[in-house]
Amino acid sequence: EIRITGVSKSFGPLKVLDDVSLSLGPGSVTAIIGQSGSGKSTLLRAINHLERVDAGFIAIDGELIGYRQDGDTLYELKEADILARRVDVGMVFQGFNLFPHLTAIENVVEAPITVRGLPRARALAEARELLARVGLADKAESYPRQLSGGQQQRVAIARALALRPKVLLFDEPTSALDPELVGEVLDVIEELARSGTTLVIVTHEIGFAREVADQVIFMEGGRILEQGPPSRVLAAPDHPRTREFLAKVL
Ligand code: ATP
Ligand code: MG
Repeated sequence: EIRITGVSKSFGPLKVLDDVSLSLGPGSVTAIIGQSGSGKSTLLRAINHLERVDAGFIAIDGELIGYRQDGDTLYELKEADILARRVDVGMVFQGFNLFPHLTAIENVVEAPITVRGLPRARALAEARELLARVGLADKAESYPRQLSGGQQQRVAIARALALRPKVLLFDEPTSALDPELVGEVLDVIEELARSGTTLVIVTHEIGFAREVADQVIFMEGGRILEQGPPSRVLAAPDHPRTREFLAKVL
């Protein structure tokens, strides 16, 4: 379970997250929508402690992200401890961010070996299973430049899963893809959703959010303006700003 409580974050004078509170149950799928600059990526990055928040806190299964609590005082964790905790949170970005000089399977085994300390043979066996799961059993030995954008993104998903995260965050995972490649990546994400992986997805794919998400969050100006099941937020939003946004993107 992820609890985000009263999180705020500013860049200089610009308040990018403004008192955001949100709770994500195990196995839930949350879609975050909103205009450019509304704070969606910053919120995801905060969950991973790639971004330090100014106020509030984020906890996964009761463990604070980036901090430890001693009485009433929070202390920021040391870099090594932050990295250790980050294993719980997988992240897939818009760009595929694969290591270009490593094959697909070497991209997937890198972190399990260095971070989880898995023996190489075991990591390779797990990586083969993960590549099969994303439909790329036959591409294990290919380099990123030999793969399509959709295939690269699926390798990136396998790589994120290899750390056995408690939650997987996707930041516009299909927006850098050619339209004909979007479906294959969404299919993989949908399969993860159905198999009970806790997911948070920033997406402009409203149809996908409607079908797969349990809850949809509409953000504007760093705040959650509306939140609820897709059947309500997407079909009959309460807030006029949500209606305006949906009219533009649908
Ligand atoms: P998009 O849909 O374009 O990806 P977003 O909702 O993900 O937008 P964020 O990337 O979270 O938006 O950015 C929110 C605001 O914070 C923007 O105005 C952005 O310019 C600003 N911002 C983000 N990162 C930084 C930074 N490191 N320094 C200064 N300003 C930043
Ligand atoms: Mg963004």
